[in-house]
Amino acid sequence: MNASIASRAPAHIRSLSPYQPGKPVSELARETGIPETEIVKLASNENPLGMSPKARAAAVAALEEGARYPDGNAFALRGALARKYGVDMSQLVIGNGSNDVLEIATQAFLSPDASAVFAQYSFAVYPLATIARGARCIQVPARNYGHDLDAMLSAIDPTTRIVFIANPNNPTGTFLSGNEIEAFLARVPQDVLVVLDEAYTEFLSADLRYDAIGWVTRFPNLLVSRTLCKAYGLAGLRLGYGVAHPEVADLMNRVRQPFNASCVAQAAAVAALEDQDFVEKAAENNRRGMAQLTAAFAELGLEWIPSFGNFVTVRVGDGARVDKSLLAQGVIVRPIGGYGMPEWLRVSIGLPEENARFIAALRRALD
Ligand SMILES: *Cc1c(COP(=O)(O)O)cnc(C)c1O
Repeated sequence: MNASIASRAPAHIRSLSPYQPGKPVSELARETGIPETEIVKLASNENPLGMSPKARAAAVAALEEGARYPDGNAFALRGALARKYGVDMSQLVIGNGSNDVLEIATQAFLSPDASAVFAQYSFAVYPLATIARGARCIQVPARNYGHDLDAMLSAIDPTTRIVFIANPNNPTGTFLSGNEIEAFLARVPQDVLVVLDEAYTEFLSADLRYDAIGWVTRFPNLLVSRTLCKAYGLAGLRLGYGVAHPEVADLMNRVRQPFNASCVAQAAAVAALEDQDFVEKAAENNRRGMAQLTAAFAELGLEWIPSFGNFVTVRVGDGARVDKSLLAQGVIVRPIGGYGMPEWLRVSIGLPEENARFIAALRRALD
């Protein structure tokens, strides 16, 4: 008898568990009969304002070219990013979401004899992408639910090729100052790629901002990963980018799929990058919503982790039970038992009325 086809996949592939996304609105509607329009989704850190009208118009116009392959070199988009950040186009890697940028980094730098370092309670894609390359995960215990950079530095061994840092972190929302990250970069071995994942950087207040893209010339082993899927509102179109030393970007562009960003996503991204007002509106809505949710948590006597992203993680006791009750009430949040935090739920900041719906449902769930 021959072995089954599935058993012939490499052991590291068979050991993977798929990424658990937020439950789609349509799925909860199917399961409960609650109309889609009455469901509130605060589960995937999406932009509750939608996308910039300018980005939308550019996306619709780009549909006209839908029968043609997109520009695989993303000339217009890389030009826009290069101008915005004062970098050379050769330093840019475009991704189908920044998830793709993370994947491409592991493809370019990890092999089965290598390892990647990342923090406990950090983004689920780091172990997934590492294991998919057959490489070894070195998970470093968190400190106060965030990165312990000293411990991460000590955890680097001769096999380590990548260190992942999410700042702010997902799912806990913790933040490392620019000074802490800069000090880490100065100490990390220069042959280890530091992937600084800044998916939520646009939500930082002005006093917390730091310019990691400006550090790339000083640290040729730094890859800064950003996305237009969160603050810019293009989650469904998928568009992210990486900024690195030209040699790093070149290696990544060799393994990247040639047409990984669609013509619609590229066009929307160019327009979105020009609409700074929209991003500021999103950040302002986020500040207010964060205050609204945390005030309610305080009133309910719930512990939460102070968050610097567009979501907040709150301790509710039995996360699975509370999640079930919220779903029955038409509210989707993100249980994070899979991250080893079964007592917690991660809640994205929504519009004021969406936040209010969640708070009312949470009250009932906890009763
Ligand atoms: C959401 C998220 C991403 C990736 O999002 P994309 O939609 O692929 O751009 C990357 N890193 C972190 C930490 C995230 O939370």
